[in-house]
Amino acid sequence: MRRAIRATGRGATCCARCCGGSRRAPRASRLESERDELYEAQASKLLAGITVGLDLGRAPLIGAALQVYWVHLVTTLGAQAFGRIDAPTVCPCCGSRPVASVVRMGAQEAGLRYLHCSLCGTEWHFARIQCASCEATKGIEYHFIKDGTKAWQAETCAECGTYLKIFHQEHEPLVEPTADDLASVALDLLVADTGKLRSGQNLMLIHGDEE
Ligand SMILES: [Zn+2]
Ligand SMILES: [Zn+2]
Repeated sequence: MRRAIRATGRGATCCARCCGGSRRAPRASRLESERDELYEAQASKLLAGITVGLDLGRAPLIGAALQVYWVHLVTTLGAQAFGRIDAPTVCPCCGSRPVASVVRMGAQEAGLRYLHCSLCGTEWHFARIQCASCEATKGIEYHFIKDGTKAWQAETCAECGTYLKIFHQEHEPLVEPTADDLASVALDLLVADTGKLRSGQNLMLIHGDEE
């Protein structure tokens, strides 16, 4: 994992505005020179959802490296990585929460919903019109951006007061849950007006206080 974090830091470049992306990003440069213990501590906080003591500026780089490491683990293990667990709302491979869900298109899977793991990218089947946090089937509502794409929706739950986004391949075949979650922040702002809290975990989009 430490090698993946260093590789992610080496690949990061500065913004196009100041140098055309030719210089190394300052945070990435500092990250590469840090001790292994810092990687481990920051990665542990990020995976546990602890923002106190977490460097929010470096968190996306560490999150990207963790995703590379875990995708490698899961794809290397193949079918052995999968197992039936008692909690259907967390990933059957790594135990992480989903970033969002996808309603698929295609002959055999058309209309079926899958939760997408925020860490290893695994997708697992989950019923529709059911809260992906508390599993309630009542009090479910859907929100979308007026005049926006039909591919993005937010499923809110009155029982636990959370929401998770649903992306519809029927309207956007190339939808990518982590990237589309970032692209649809306007939907988060819309749902925030209802008082519902986000249940989806995105390692590229960390909220909270470092203090
Ligand atoms: Zn996973
Ligand atoms: Zn719920």
